[in-house]
Amino acid sequence: MIQALFSYKRDLNLESTIATTMTAVIIDGKKIAEDIKREVKRETEKLNADKGITPGLAFILVGDNPASQAYVRMKGKGCEEMGFYSITERLPAETTQEHLLQLIDKFNRDPNIHGILVQLPLPKHISEEHVLTAIDYRKDVDGFHPINVGKLVIGQECLKPCTPLGVQELLVRSGNDPSGKHVVVVGRSNIVGKPVLNILLQKQKGANAVVTIAHTGAKDTSQYTRQADIVIAAMGRPECITGEMIKPGAVVIDVGINRIDDTTAKNGYRLVGDVHFASAAAVASAITPVPGGVGPMTIAMLLRNTLLAAAGTLYHE
Ligand code: NAP
Repeated sequence: MIQALFSYKRDLNLESTIATTMTAVIIDGKKIAEDIKREVKRETEKLNADKGITPGLAFILVGDNPASQAYVRMKGKGCEEMGFYSITERLPAETTQEHLLQLIDKFNRDPNIHGILVQLPLPKHISEEHVLTAIDYRKDVDGFHPINVGKLVIGQECLKPCTPLGVQELLVRSGNDPSGKHVVVVGRSNIVGKPVLNILLQKQKGANAVVTIAHTGAKDTSQYTRQADIVIAAMGRPECITGEMIKPGAVVIDVGINRIDDTTAKNGYRLVGDVHFASAAAVASAITPVPGGVGPMTIAMLLRNTLLAAAGTLYHE
């Protein structure tokens, strides 16, 4: 935080003003994620005691992308902490689509597996769409299956994408309920922007917002963000949303995770969001940091989705 302020001073040469104008409360995603994990663990113990069910999650990792390996490791560790059963299938990059589909079919039929997660991205010769559609939608803990996407859009109960769910939980649990607020989401991807829109606009508790989506088709994104009570940045563009694009007092949720070169850092880079933290923190009422904001929530929501899938109460058909 302090470092971010200093770098902002360096960038914009506002030596004297920043320290006095920084007003935002920092939304602690790490703490909120830990709270959720504690709840999931408690519910898991109850499910186990009442019904003898242990949630089971299967990870499928194709290829040796280091970031994907790290994500799967972290998610596996989360399963361990919750007392879940988990299994990781590591396949070589040259695995055929047919082989991958056979593995998914095996997990679809395995009664000990309640969630299946195929870590993205997949090698180019494999169709993501085909693979994600092959997962039993009742085990689709990533919430990407077209049946779940459709159910989300029409407001039915279903497994929903983890990062967008994490955004909603961060808002609600930090005392920034989106109900009745104007939310502007920047980014319209199928994994973040569109599901955030579809979650927050539902006439439901913790949602019921008026939602606008901006994207590269917008002539001037700031024209929209300046009208927002809540800005959700999910563009994959480092520090693109600056303080002057934000209405004073707005809440800012930064989904972005970008690596930028930093010769002063031990490993030569640092992580930044899609929001220019220090300038935004100077005008916002609350803001998520990167790292430590939305990031930890994604795993917490994956664990909760797996518990929900294991409990088997979401779908009635
Ligand atoms: P994506 O698939 O690349 O989508 C980016 C979206 O932002 C696109 O819709 C794009 O518009 C829009 N966009 C890009 N530049 C823009 C600009 N200057 N103004 C307005 N809109 C702009 O990215 P994503 O997968 O949604 O991820 C977004 C960010 O979230 C990335 O930094 C990613 O690393 C991060 N992320 C974090 C988590 C987490 O756990 N915290 C999870 C997932 C993603 P067009 O559609 O017009 O191209």
